[in-house]
Amino acid sequence: MKCNHCRIGHLHSTKMPYITFLDDQIMIVPDVSAYRCDMCGDVLFNKGFLEQLQYLLDKLTEAEYPPATAEWLALNEQLGHWQPSDRMS
Ligand SMILES: [Zn+2]
Repeated sequence: MKCNHCRIGHLHSTKMPYITFLDDQIMIVPDVSAYRCDMCGDVLFNKGFLEQLQYLLDKLTEAEYPPATAEWLALNEQLGHWQPSDRMS
């Protein structure tokens, strides 16, 4: 698998800690399956794992939606008010 970052190196399966921020705290998940580029050192984590992790974090922090989704929903609600609810006769 070729690296999408430098487009020269190849990605190799490896395990490494996944580091993320939770509010002002650092959370580290050790030994996560990942791909690492042998040229630029770019790291790709398993997308499914990241989605599961995000899901768990949402559950733990009791966030109803990720910020992007919440923003989108709020925008959609605003747009909804612009549209006439029923036609003028
Ligand atoms: Zn690379």
